[in-house]
Amino acid sequence: MSLVRVCNVPDHAGTGSVCKWPDPNVGIALMQVPPGVSEAGFSQAVDWVIEQWNTACGVKMAWAAQAFKARILIYTRKIDGPAGVLAESELPCGPVKQCKQWYDSSEKWDVRWPPTGDGISLYLTLLHEVGHAIGISHAPDGTVAVMAAFLNSSLRALQPWDIAQGQRRYGKPVGGAPGPTGGTNMNRDEIVKRIESILLILEHLAKLTNNKVDDALIGVAKDLLKQTWLIDILLFLFQQQQQQQQAAGTSESS
Ligand SMILES: [Zn+2]
Repeated sequence: MSLVRVCNVPDHAGTGSVCKWPDPNVGIALMQVPPGVSEAGFSQAVDWVIEQWNTACGVKMAWAAQAFKARILIYTRKIDGPAGVLAESELPCGPVKQCKQWYDSSEKWDVRWPPTGDGISLYLTLLHEVGHAIGISHAPDGTVAVMAAFLNSSLRALQPWDIAQGQRRYGKPVGGAPGPTGGTNMNRDEIVKRIESILLILEHLAKLTNNKVDDALIGVAKDLLKQTWLIDILLFLFQQQQQQQQAAGTSESS
């Protein structure tokens, strides 16, 4: 079987230095999808990839509220025709604001998980490219890793080398998803979603109790949600708390 190179990122890129984003809250935006792949199908693959990296290390990737705030921007373009090179990505080395990546528009992409073998696995390729976009370079030759330069279609998860590289940059995963009482690891989208879901519950309660839950109060809460400064303050407070926790964690482990 011929080897398919996952991407055009040079094998020496990022080696010898540890490239990473200064803030683990890394936003992703889907700007374009390759022909033959639906936006919904590609988005599902992104959801899965976000979950894989977020549970492997302390990075906190999420969909960006707006593309201009995204750290990782996904595009498509013709790279070199079918097989050959599948994609390419920029790495966050130095004072980089955004990393772009491109998926070859001439590939036949398999958008199912687990892969069916019919086409190139978008999930595995995306997992690899997003690894670059959070700063990880190619694994040394002979290492079994998602971040190896050549596609290993038999892999179904991040491998020890990949996880170690993620943790080297962002530490161990912090507590997983926020719990029902709210976590301090929420990003902006998660805060907004959390407040929106509370509003939905209140509205539902209002209906059930013939408006004993005050409609005016719900109105005020909805207006507050439109005030982006409020979300900014919440986000700032959460991040501050998180940094304090991380600082405490670092001093314990060192
Ligand atoms: Zn690569």
